[in-house]
Amino acid sequence: KNLEERVKSVIRDVQDFPKPGILFKDITPILLYPDLLQDMITEMANQFEGIQIDAVAGIESRGYLFGVLLAQKLQVPFIMIRKEGKLPAKTIKESYDLEYGSATIEVHEDAIKTGSNVLIHDDLLATGGTAIAAANLIKQKANVAGFSFVIDLTFLEGSKKLKEIKPIVKSLIT
Ligand code: 5GP
Repeated sequence: KNLEERVKSVIRDVQDFPKPGILFKDITPILLYPDLLQDMITEMANQFEGIQIDAVAGIESRGYLFGVLLAQKLQVPFIMIRKEGKLPAKTIKESYDLEYGSATIEVHEDAIKTGSNVLIHDDLLATGGTAIAAANLIKQKANVAGFSFVIDLTFLEGSKKLKEIKPIVKSLIT
């Protein structure tokens, strides 16, 4: 089987999670297969060959699982983007609108090198709202090198919006 089929075969669809009517893509079984995980990270790194990446920023919390491994593979620093109030040192913040209300994410100010090229990673791209907020956060100090996801729910067309920020948007499966 090719990598795409191997990844798809372990991702689990969970009906009505976290709310009725939502079909949730559960990526946690991937972590039970170290060989698959390793092959995924290799492929994700290859997707950005020839693109200058100075750091990978992962979005809490599933974005850490693959993001830190991707950064390690690329031999660049890993930056944690967290929900507000979790990071202990001085941060920069970005607020964004949700379906109901709003949310704030933040990052340690000294984790981002001024003017560096930062790849934004998360496990899954849906509407793009989370990744756009992450991009706006990074852009306060640095440049967005591109976007990396394990899954792109293409019917929501999130990548169209991300491409307006930076046209390099990659996923392992759609
Ligand atoms: P967006 O902001 O693009 O609409 O939603 C993407 C964010 O929600 C990501 O941080 C992602 O982890 C989470 N998310 C939304 N739906 C799913 C899903 O079905 N499975 C997983 N694993 N994460 C999801």
